[in-house]
Amino acid sequence: MLIGVPKEIKNHEYRVGLTPAGVKELKRNGHDILVQTQAGSAIGFPDEQYIAAGAQIVSAAEEIFKRAEMIIKVKEPQPAECAMLRPGQILYTYLHLAPDPEQTAALIKSGCVAIAYETVTDARGGLPLLAPMSEVAGRMAIQAAARALEKSAGGSGVLLGGVPGVAPGHVTVIGGGVVGTHAARMAAGLGAEVTILDRSLPRLKEIDETFGGRIKTLYSTQDAIESELKQADAVIGAVLIPGAAAPKLVSRDMLRLMKPGSVLVDVAIDQGGCFETSKATTHQDPTYVVEGVTHYCVANMPGGVARTSTIALTNATLVHAVAIANKGWQQALRDDAHLKNGLNVCQGKLTYAAVARDLGYDY
Ligand code: NAD
Repeated sequence: MLIGVPKEIKNHEYRVGLTPAGVKELKRNGHDILVQTQAGSAIGFPDEQYIAAGAQIVSAAEEIFKRAEMIIKVKEPQPAECAMLRPGQILYTYLHLAPDPEQTAALIKSGCVAIAYETVTDARGGLPLLAPMSEVAGRMAIQAAARALEKSAGGSGVLLGGVPGVAPGHVTVIGGGVVGTHAARMAAGLGAEVTILDRSLPRLKEIDETFGGRIKTLYSTQDAIESELKQADAVIGAVLIPGAAAPKLVSRDMLRLMKPGSVLVDVAIDQGGCFETSKATTHQDPTYVVEGVTHYCVANMPGGVARTSTIALTNATLVHAVAIANKGWQQALRDDAHLKNGLNVCQGKLTYAAVARDLGYDY
């Protein structure tokens, strides 16, 4: 199969759909790969590495969209890219169609076969192509909090890990899923005192067993959140109710319980945020202050560590890319019901029930 990897064109997106190692793997399976020049150069994957791995470098995205049978990307196709998609061409990338009627209509019109990373499932009921980005965001949340706590950033001047003779900082993580667990692991690794709150008792039990008591677990009630806010130096918002907007768990009034210069990191901002005072920010201007509390609400946190994110993402996506290339999309989807769950648009039809329902399409 001829596979194409265009350079991402969304603002400040430095990730790339395939690493040189991925190119090598596909090549070994008998496929040919076109990579747009400079597609990975911003994150340490120069054209020479792709060439050494067996790719052919092309200068324009147009050539990739014109020739490739499968396009591998990271972000949803932008309007200019949607216009270049061809009937029957496979598009393998993040799509997030539910809130995006324009992109949905454009993909339907193109006649392409669009497989969305975010709806591919696994045998444990997880979303394996979404999880790597949650892992990155969870770990990064602690870096962001640590930086915001520094005096020069307007913070309280607390070092999360403390030092011998000085108590460490206190980190409260609301939501003990993928983001929350990785945030907690990172905070504990720094030496901070950590509490995780969740609504799921089995989840709390798992966390307790995993961390051997190193991390305190609490059932998530308003009362428990309020008592945590009083002692927290950093609060990480990591809740998710699948398919719904994030619940607002900390109100503006509750911020007054917090110490001045403490920090809220709302990782759930991409679902609307779980703090009443959250509003989406960017890597260029990531924080703002409300009631003396610094808010960090970057909606695409993994983009800030694009090299790590690219490698983590492609570690998870490559296996399906190889299956699709080896078998063709029909057979690959017939053989793997979890990959089939990724099919969102197929040759002029919307094929994902939740998206059809949200956007008012017949299904
Ligand atoms: P997950 O499903 O693995 O975990 C969510 C957890 O929240 C679950 O354990 C659930 O029981 C818990 N929860 C639900 N309601 C709760 C409540 N009221 N109190 C406490 N816990 C509650 O989800 P995840 O992968 O960890 O993702 C968490 C959020 O982070 C999602 O909104 C996701 O989209 C977002 N995210 C954001 C970025 C970013 O760049 N900002 C990156 C990755 C993920």
